[in-house]
Amino acid sequence: MPPAPVAATEPLPTDADGIEAYNNQMASIFSKLSLDACEFCGRTFKPESLVKHLKGCRGPAMKK
Ligand SMILES: [Zn+2]
Repeated sequence: MPPAPVAATEPLPTDADGIEAYNNQMASIFSKLSLDACEFCGRTFKPESLVKHLKGCRGPAMKK
């Protein structure tokens, strides 16, 4: 299990800049936890999108 986000145990910021930074941090953590990486090309998708992607994935992008 990953450790709980440190910020979750800290007091919430009260100034606008602090709140924005906090929200960005939480969004970043959430997106990392909720996205799955394609095992072929390494791109990340929402779980339901990854299922669709895997059907058409041809591996790492090839330069033409
Ligand atoms: Zn892929």
